[in-house]
Amino acid sequence: MRECWAKPLGDCKGGITGEHLFTRSIFTGEEIVVDGAPWFKGVSKRISLDAAVGNILCEHHNHTLGTYADPAGKELREAMQASVRNKPEATGTATEYVRSPGGIIVPKPTVTIRGPHVGAWLAKTHCNMIANTKGTPSIEYIQYAFSPRNPQIQFYYPHVLGEDVGFTDQPHATYVNFHEPGEPFAIQICGFWSLVALQPIPKLEVLNFLDRVREVRFQTLTLALDWTDDPPRPSSPTVQRPPTQQS
Ligand SMILES: [Zn+2]
Repeated sequence: MRECWAKPLGDCKGGITGEHLFTRSIFTGEEIVVDGAPWFKGVSKRISLDAAVGNILCEHHNHTLGTYADPAGKELREAMQASVRNKPEATGTATEYVRSPGGIIVPKPTVTIRGPHVGAWLAKTHCNMIANTKGTPSIEYIQYAFSPRNPQIQFYYPHVLGEDVGFTDQPHATYVNFHEPGEPFAIQICGFWSLVALQPIPKLEVLNFLDRVREVRFQTLTLALDWTDDPPRPSSPTVQRPPTQQS
């Protein structure tokens, strides 16, 4: 018999329920691409969102996650699609104002999304994918999905984006599990990538991916991720200098 992946939290209620691995309500009848999972033997696989359901959450935990994590995922998807739909006629218009599809100059919109809620949705989706293959997700991700309060988890988002980053208004998504220490994974929605790990990945700074980025600018839209609910970041570890040898 399958168990709820949030069982370590100790407050399961109700029977096991079907859970869409990749929140069904944020997409409209398309597929996701799943990469890097051992059960696909290194081959990417397209799966239908309708078919991607697992009996992996109890009634209580399924309902709880649906109230704030799922809306955050949907908000992010809608912001990505808006950044494509509001495309200006010329790059030069992409400063403070943009030309709308109707030819009217309008202020470049800012969409603010609660960062911890997006983080909870990312953590939840990862736990779904792991649990559906009879794996056990790390307790840090389980806890963050229900109570986003762990500053140790790294949430990487693109800091500065070019003009040809290939965003799409198609409801396309990708999940990548790296199967490495620190349990890193990546999720793409409509061309917007998020990388999450339990340990810092320093190399990502080269790619302009920063932990808990507060603002991502597109030609036609600014995405603001509000992290004020998140506890302060741990300070960088102090480098201990070896004691100077005195003769
Ligand atoms: Zn449960």
